[in-house]
Amino acid sequence: MSSKAKVRKEGFLIVLSAPSGCGKTTVVDRLLKRHSDWQRSVSVTTRKPRAGEKDGEDYIFVSPAGLETMKANGELLESARVFDHEYGTPKKPVLEAIAKGKCVILAIDVQGAQCIRKGLDKRLVASIFILPPSVKVLRERLENRNTETPAQIDKRIEAAQEEIKAASLYEFTVLNQNIEQTVQDVEDRVRQFEDKRGK
Ligand code: 5GP
Repeated sequence: MSSKAKVRKEGFLIVLSAPSGCGKTTVVDRLLKRHSDWQRSVSVTTRKPRAGEKDGEDYIFVSPAGLETMKANGELLESARVFDHEYGTPKKPVLEAIAKGKCVILAIDVQGAQCIRKGLDKRLVASIFILPPSVKVLRERLENRNTETPAQIDKRIEAAQEEIKAASLYEFTVLNQNIEQTVQDVEDRVRQFEDKRGK
């Protein structure tokens, strides 16, 4: 697979949101393989690791008190409560990466995305919402993933329906019908964003 790198004076953020089970993690993994100058922001969370998740790689797993301290110390760029747990984006690594001309992907929920859009210069944020083909497909994907209980799946589907309503607030929307096409569509939108903002 190709690895495209660009030289920029100032980097930017790709704020990527999608309902749970929409394939966001796979899309992000593929994008990172294709662009050596893109990196993922590793969020902090108070939820427990799922099987196979590694601390410091998938998330930084912290206690509720630990996350509160980070918030109070101004160490988070944004934070939000999602599905009964707190999540947040550590500020320092993101700002350092932007200063080095990198593109940082934030896979965060709609509340966090709104906070980033409000708090940062428009030139620094490309916001993209990935839409599932349908709510039915989304439910099937969550059921096949087998990481949530039926009650948790119902909750995520309910939340997805709310999140989809927020899609129009994003600069771009992409319909995830197949992963390869979605990856390309995200790349196209990012190119559009970069062309518009200039170098
Ligand atoms: P999961 O627990 O399934 O990994 O993630 C649940 C939700 O939390 C997803 O919508 C994910 O995008 C969101 N999320 C993950 N990290 C962050 C973060 O740092 N900030 C915010 N606001 N949401 C996050």
